[in-house]
Amino acid sequence: MRLKTRILLFASIMIAAAVLLCCTLILKLVRTQMEQDAAEKATAAFDEVYSDVIRLGNSVDDPAYADTYMAYKVRKADKTGTYTLSYKGSYLINNVGFSPEPYLIPGEESTDPMQSFCRVFGTLYHVTGQTVYCFDRSYVLTKVTDLSGLDDYLKSLAWRCVGIGAAVTAAFLLLAYFILSASLRPIKTLQSGAQAIASGNYHTRIDVKRRDEIGLLSADFNAMADAVESSIAELKEQNARKQQFINDLSHEMKTPVTSLLLNSETLVTRTVTEEDRQRALVRIHEQAKWIERLSQKLMQLVLLQGEIELVPSPVRPLLDAVSETVQDSLARSQITLTVACGEQTVPMDFDLLRSALVNLIENAIKASEPGSTVELIAEDHAIVVRDHGRGIPKDEIARITEPFYMVDRSRSKRLGGSGLGLALVQRIVDAHRAVLSIESEAGRGSSFFIRFSDTV
Ligand code: ADP
Repeated sequence: MRLKTRILLFASIMIAAAVLLCCTLILKLVRTQMEQDAAEKATAAFDEVYSDVIRLGNSVDDPAYADTYMAYKVRKADKTGTYTLSYKGSYLINNVGFSPEPYLIPGEESTDPMQSFCRVFGTLYHVTGQTVYCFDRSYVLTKVTDLSGLDDYLKSLAWRCVGIGAAVTAAFLLLAYFILSASLRPIKTLQSGAQAIASGNYHTRIDVKRRDEIGLLSADFNAMADAVESSIAELKEQNARKQQFINDLSHEMKTPVTSLLLNSETLVTRTVTEEDRQRALVRIHEQAKWIERLSQKLMQLVLLQGEIELVPSPVRPLLDAVSETVQDSLARSQITLTVACGEQTVPMDFDLLRSALVNLIENAIKASEPGSTVELIAEDHAIVVRDHGRGIPKDEIARITEPFYMVDRSRSKRLGGSGLGLALVQRIVDAHRAVLSIESEAGRGSSFFIRFSDTV
């Protein structure tokens, strides 16, 4: 059952019950009041007749005429014909059609008239009576008042109450229906918004400007939709990056693997000269070394997924270690490395940061002409690797940290590059909660800045 129907049903049952209860209470009060009035009126009328009968006295001296005389007195005093007179259970007068004596209940005082209400053959009566004496005989004088008019009046009042109650309930229900419909409309909007999101429309938002609970719920819903949308966008981006990585990796692997296969096939299936055999072996060796380098960098990239522990350490030993590592490459390329460093300390993982700086210096060496200088500088909260080599075209700078991205593919490959070096540097810098920024001008050189945050 829908919420609106349920609320309306519950409300209508409650209202109908309340109206019914009120009507019953009112009818009960009215009935009590009317019965009280009727009883007072009846006893007053009875008192008058009773006094008249008493006042007429006893003017017969023969007890044999007592019954006739009493009946005469009652008939004289009663103008309504609603009195009965009995002696020892037999009636001298009774025009009411039933015996009222059994219904008489004595009053609180012995002088009070006996009275009660009774229902005879479905009709409501009030009976009141007293004992009257004549010649030591005790007669019972009773007045019977027909209250069927009161019954009819109460019945019609009850029907009017039912009618008014039904009208009030219907009016309330109509009003409640409109108020509920207006109040629940935003829930419908929320529902359709949730359905839209469930079916993939993550940009859906709820336009409910209210300050009540539904307004707050809508704001929460929109916040949830924001979170879902950005998570989905992030997931999509991650997926796309992963897919791109796999595509690039398989592309990169194709050349060395093909070369390995061709050269090994030549050695296995053909008779070749010693010179060709030597050349094939050298190629196999080169490609195998290249795959080894590639897999080493891939492993480092994969291992760098989680958090690393950063220890505030002085920069000087780090730069010394980096400089030591690149000595052979520098010598081979006839390039000089200058190191400038103060006594500063930065939060670091020594080995990873050394690996990143070595990568940057190897790249700087590859980009520089023999005889030139590469600088390794530790500034306040940054470490800079600067060269005066080829530089990087402006529109390529943003992409060189992407895995497998190479500016001059054939030149980079010839120099043993895989396009993973800067991706790895970027990952290491991120893990240090630092920022990698690149300044470069084609033909004039490049500077790679690793800027550390003040707080760790
Ligand atoms: P690779 O293994 O090819 O060096 P990297 O990710 O380290 O891969 O570098 C990506 C590309 O960025 C390289 O192909 C190179 O062309 C360019 N590059 C990197 N550092 C420099 C630099 N200091 N000067 C000029 N070009 C650079």
